[in-house]
Amino acid sequence: MSVDIDKELNTEVHQETKLKGLNATIATPSVTRHIMKAFNLRASKKLGQNFLVDANIVRGIVEAAGAQPGDKILEIGPGIGTLTQGLAESGAEIVAVELDKKLPAVLAETLAAYDNVTIVPGDILKVNIPEIMGEGPFKVAANLPYYITTPILMALLERHLPISILVTMVQKEVALRMIARPGSKIYGALSVAVQYYTKPHIAFDVPPRSFIPAPEVDSVVVVCDVREKPAVEVKDEKMFFKVVKAAFGQRRKTIANAMKGAGFTKEIIEAAFAKCGIDSGRRGETFSLEEFAALADAIS
Ligand code: SAM
Repeated sequence: MSVDIDKELNTEVHQETKLKGLNATIATPSVTRHIMKAFNLRASKKLGQNFLVDANIVRGIVEAAGAQPGDKILEIGPGIGTLTQGLAESGAEIVAVELDKKLPAVLAETLAAYDNVTIVPGDILKVNIPEIMGEGPFKVAANLPYYITTPILMALLERHLPISILVTMVQKEVALRMIARPGSKIYGALSVAVQYYTKPHIAFDVPPRSFIPAPEVDSVVVVCDVREKPAVEVKDEKMFFKVVKAAFGQRRKTIANAMKGAGFTKEIIEAAFAKCGIDSGRRGETFSLEEFAALADAIS
C-alpha cells in the first residue's frame, strides 16, 4: 500500500523517528528517494549499492524463490530493505547480512512492521553462515553487489551449505558465464562451478532503470537449483577445481601447457592424459564437466 511519504516526512513526528508510519512498498523511486533523504544516505559505489525501485522485479524474485511460510531465506545485502520487504511479506523467516554499517539503523525503521526479519551486520564472505542460518535447509535471495558477485557465489557453493535454491540478481554478462556451455568463449571456471553444484537458468532481464542509481550494465535474475549431488562424481573435489582453475588460468594455451603453467609436473600431466584417454592438445574451454572429472580422477 502506498502512502504520502512526502507529507509524512514533513511532520514533526518525523524529526524523532524518521519514517514513523512507513507503510509503503519501498520498491518505488519516490519512496526510495525519501528514505535516502531522510537518512542522509548516498548510494556507495564501492559497496555496489544500486537499490531496486521496481515492485514487479521484487515480486519476480520472491516468486522465483518460491518464498513461503516455513522457509528460511538468507538475503545478502538488504540495502534499505527493498527486496527484504517483499521476501518478508511471503511469511518466510529472513536473515539478511549487510556490510554497510549505516544501514542496520535504517532497516530497523523501514522494516519495523516485520518480526520475521533478522539483520546481521557484517561481510557475507566472513560471517559464519551455519551459525546465523541454524539447522536445516535454506534458500538464498539477493540483489548482489556486483563488485564481488563471483566470490560470493563461489563461497556459497563450495562450502556445501544446505542451500536448496539461489535466486540472485547479477550482471547479465556474469549470468551468461554461469550458464555457458563447453566450446563457448565465455565458458570458464565459474560456469563449471555453478553447473557442477546447481542447475542454473536465467529467469528474467532487469533494465538499468529498475535501480537507483541506474547501473551502467544490464542485469538479470538467475535461478540456481542446487543439485542433491554434484553433476559429476569426482574422487577429490579439490583436485577437480585445481584442474579447472589451471585449465582456465591460461585459456589460450592447450590444457597440458596451462596445467604446466599452474605447477603440475610434466610426468603427472603425461600420466594423467594417458590414463584418461583425452587429447592433451585441446583447450580447457572445450572440456565438459565429465572430461574435467576424468582428468582430475586420473591425477587423484
Ligand atoms: N537488496 C537491496 C536492493 O535490492 O535494493 C540492495 C542491493 S545492492 C545491489 C547490494 C547491497 O549489498 C548493498 O546494500 C551493499 O551495502 C551490500 N553489500 C556490499 N558488499 C557486501 C558484503 N560483502 N556483505 C554483505 N553485504 C554487502
